[in-house]
Amino acid sequence: MFDTIERACLEAVHLKADPATGLRAIIAIHSTRFGPALGGCRFLPYASDRDALNDAARLAHGMSYKAALADVPQGGGKAVILKPSGNYNRAALFRAFGRFVETLDGRYITAVDSGSSLSDMDQIETQTGHVSGSHGDGLDPSPETAYGVFCAMRAACNVMDHSDNLSGKIIAIQGLGQVGWALAQLLHNAGARLLVNDLDQQKIQEAVQCFDARAVAPEVIHAQACDIFSPCALGAVLNHHSVHQLRCRLVVGSANNQLESPALAHWLDQHDILYVPDYVANAGGLIKVSLGKLGQSLAEIRRHTERISTTVDDILQRAIQQHLPPADIADRLAQARLEAPVSAGGTKGKRHALS
Ligand code: NAD
Repeated sequence: MFDTIERACLEAVHLKADPATGLRAIIAIHSTRFGPALGGCRFLPYASDRDALNDAARLAHGMSYKAALADVPQGGGKAVILKPSGNYNRAALFRAFGRFVETLDGRYITAVDSGSSLSDMDQIETQTGHVSGSHGDGLDPSPETAYGVFCAMRAACNVMDHSDNLSGKIIAIQGLGQVGWALAQLLHNAGARLLVNDLDQQKIQEAVQCFDARAVAPEVIHAQACDIFSPCALGAVLNHHSVHQLRCRLVVGSANNQLESPALAHWLDQHDILYVPDYVANAGGLIKVSLGKLGQSLAEIRRHTERISTTVDDILQRAIQQHLPPADIADRLAQARLEAPVSAGGTKGKRHALS
């Protein structure tokens, strides 16, 4: 356990078991330097406690990088709730998780993530104020995440083709969940031609009807000849096996930790596949939750999300100039921002805490 904590440079890890509800949860906090650690809570089955801790640790680290490049006043953290295998009362379990979050006194703010829903946030909200994205607060992150990915795609196309027009582009979307579906809608409206898949056949059928999309089998969605492959399901979809099958020019999606290993960024670069780092492209939801909690309007949040285009352009231009993969450039920029001295009395870089 301690090697995981040291490797991910975590500030703290908090564990909670509540036998009455079956809750077994981990909250990993990577950084609170620029504000409370903000990150969603995953609700998934894990093969082992170690897998769950590794997931929380990697994701918490990524959230700090995401907040740094999205320029929001947050640190990075993540919660993982191990989904029970037997019967359980979901509402009671999420209320118990809310009490766990409350014990951290605002050092961690939770939100929706894979496997959790806005209704779960409603339950958490009965126990703690340190939650965002319930039905009541209007801060569902997923539509803004989709919009940020859309902005990232346009910026990347602009670098590659000198036009950010997505009309006629062939885009393969893996996963039609909260983000993937909203992204498909935006891309369809922009005139893109969609290839889609999901584990849920009904979602596929609806996408075929609503977006004139073509359904593709899950095991070959990444291998379609297309302009953009967009992973919007789970992580590690780009592994040492799957990258050899890619037939796209760009990878831009919402899934966290798309690369199974960092070395794959170099492989993609060497094979002329432009990979937009996941935590840069999928920052829209974080921006919405963070700035929404600070009372900013939806219009202000939208403008901030659109700045993802500028960030992507900056990273890709530097990558071209420095002959480095975009992922390396993004990591360096994020790390530099996290390590930058906070000027006394200054406003830039000195971030205010959420109330
Ligand atoms: P979700 O759970 O709503 O949707 C995921 C979808 O992917 C589901 O429809 C599921 O059936 C499908 N899926 C799972 N495994 C698949 C597979 N092997 N092949 C095809 N489809 C598969 O999740 P979401 O909120 O849409 O998030 C999607 C991804 O984006 C996750 O990795 C999440 O961590 C990341 N992300 C989400 C947000 C957000 O605001 N929701 C923000 C940042 C990052």
